[in-house]
Amino acid sequence: MKKIIIAIDGHASCGKSTLAKDLARKLKYRYIDTGAMYRAVTLFALQNNIIINNEINKNKLFDFIEKIKIDFKYNLELDKSETFLNNINVENKIRGMEVSNLVSPISIIGFVREKLVLLQQEMGKNKAIVMDGRDIGTVVFPDAELKIFLTAGVEVRAKRRFDELTKKGDNVNFDEILLNLTTRDKIDSTRKIAPLKKAENAILIDNSNIGIKQQFEKVLELCKEKKKN
Ligand code: C5P
Repeated sequence: MKKIIIAIDGHASCGKSTLAKDLARKLKYRYIDTGAMYRAVTLFALQNNIIINNEINKNKLFDFIEKIKIDFKYNLELDKSETFLNNINVENKIRGMEVSNLVSPISIIGFVREKLVLLQQEMGKNKAIVMDGRDIGTVVFPDAELKIFLTAGVEVRAKRRFDELTKKGDNVNFDEILLNLTTRDKIDSTRKIAPLKKAENAILIDNSNIGIKQQFEKVLELCKEKKKN
């Protein structure tokens, strides 16, 4: 059976990574969370005083951009891939509200996108990959064999994110999460470079009212068809 690229795009917190991870595990493919890469750049900027009082110093970020090294390593114990920024595990830090509130403004910047898109294309050059993000089916892999565009009602998404963070022990506020999701979706879909939008040939799935398992089975069927062709 042939190896394919599966591109999963969609709105913030609509379960892209859960679906992508489940597919990758089942198909024995590599999973790449491109949102984690934009989050890692944002964390780097925060740690190096490139963002002060929510203001991004783009010139300084440009000077530092080649010093940013991002990798994913598989944690066998936790059975999940973790994000490393300059060899330091930042998986938990990049998921917090501070990074979440600044990641979309960082993702607008052209030279940041250029660097990350090149890395992503390199990671997918041998196919057998599931990649999730905002521009995978439109910009990173416009020829991906299977493109999925996920969405769900914003209140449903905020509730899921709230439950997920609360379960991890984070002290979060539902309204803050809701505001973060709506703001990010707006910035992500209206930016000039690589805006979030459904690729023409992507399959749209609204999972507001369908479960994780049902969605997985449906997409797995689509993968099997594409792998056969
Ligand atoms: O996927 P996640 O919600 O973690 O992504 C965080 C942010 O990174 C998004 O809101 C978006 O601003 C940015 N992003 C992007 N392009 C991608 C993936 C993520 O601009 N391919």
